[in-house]
Amino acid sequence: MSYKAWFQCASGCNERYELNEIIYNCKTCGGLLEVKHDIEKLKHRSPGSWMRLLDERYRRTKWPFGSSVWGKKEMVCPNVDNENVVSLYEGGSNLFWAERLGNIIGTEDLWIKQCGNAHTGSFKDLGMTVLVSMVKQMISEGKDIMGVACASTGDTSAALSAYCAAAGIPAIVFLPKNKVSTAQLIQPIANGALTLSLDTDFDGCMEIVQKICRENNIYLANSMNSLRIEGQKTVSIELVQQLDWEVPDVIIIPGGNLGNVTALGKGFLLMKELGMINKLPRIVCVQAAKANPLYQSYLSGFKEFKPVQAQMTLASAIQIGNPVSINKAIKMLKLFNGVVEQATEDELANAAALADKTGLFNCPHTGVALAALFKLLEKNEIKKDERIVIISTAHGLKFTDFKVKYHENKLEEVESKYANVPLELPPEYDKVNRAIIDKISEYS
Ligand SMILES: *Cc1c(COP(=O)(O)O)cnc(C)c1O
Ligand SMILES: [Zn+2]
Repeated sequence: MSYKAWFQCASGCNERYELNEIIYNCKTCGGLLEVKHDIEKLKHRSPGSWMRLLDERYRRTKWPFGSSVWGKKEMVCPNVDNENVVSLYEGGSNLFWAERLGNIIGTEDLWIKQCGNAHTGSFKDLGMTVLVSMVKQMISEGKDIMGVACASTGDTSAALSAYCAAAGIPAIVFLPKNKVSTAQLIQPIANGALTLSLDTDFDGCMEIVQKICRENNIYLANSMNSLRIEGQKTVSIELVQQLDWEVPDVIIIPGGNLGNVTALGKGFLLMKELGMINKLPRIVCVQAAKANPLYQSYLSGFKEFKPVQAQMTLASAIQIGNPVSINKAIKMLKLFNGVVEQATEDELANAAALADKTGLFNCPHTGVALAALFKLLEKNEIKKDERIVIISTAHGLKFTDFKVKYHENKLEEVESKYANVPLELPPEYDKVNRAIIDKISEYS
């Protein structure tokens, strides 16, 4: 049984291209491409048999199927030979039952999908393994590719650098100067990537990297490259798998360039088409109020879309004013009875901190999603008895500066409701003992 996938123009002209062609836009109409699969071939296996196969492979050792992306290889990217797969054992991240947080906000069936528990600390690994594997495949076929490049708000560059380093392929990353965290900046440096710090924002980096890739034999790794979406869509399959193949009612995801929300939807549509599930969840996409073009469009019933100038936000990975996947995302949200919310700096920081107090350690983008959850529960747009999954996109340890400043109450536009500062004490038993007795009663 040979499975097949190809690029197809997503703008309606349906032009097809091979996955091993260096192409990001349709040659006929310029539209973005999408990876399509031979669904009839995939349907030869029954839904039950797919589920058993995926369960058997999940987090085992047989190369490359223990990776939760490559364990779904037939549905993701069958075109890469197993020996060209560049895998760091992606996916399989914890689906955290947020019992205590749920109790605080009055909902019992709340889950946090910890996509940041990943090799480079964000969900970007899920897509990058597919893209870099395809590059290795093309190089093995004799294609002339000098390196792989991306513009990034910090996490894409970390993932690209790690996967390229593992494969021995040069990586070139374009970062907006002073707009990524120290942890994000040091990852490509440590992995030996050519790291370019440009005095502009993400949208400015994006413009230049596209031109560089067009003019040279450098492969573009941004999310207009739809290979990444194929890997990222496995998050839907994986989380349903973790819920014993039951579809949750609502999924909340932060959105910047809007590739991830598109991928989330794509995974569900595929499972439905293959008969593995029979309903779809509602999808809530959430933006920072400082960079909210999708939210603005949602307010007009998606009738119009205008890019915005993204303002500085703590949720730096979604500080994007002109999302590349806007059309795909709107199409997807319409299919999933979609809701778009926004979160202010104060809302996102306090939401992340409240959840941290229940054992999590959230990045600001997860804070954006959590803030939306709190607001939508309040407005009764999400019901208390619904099964809710929050997509946590990165590990909080990438954003320690955000956390330190939060607890010192030094973040602009944020009033830190849950600040917790260390007590400075002399090394004297009585004073230490007294301080503990005084403070422990304040624990909540
Ligand atoms: C990339 C990223 C996002 C946004 O994903 P998009 O596909 O750009 O919408 C959200 N959170 C984190 C931590 C990210 O790295
Ligand atoms: Zn086209």
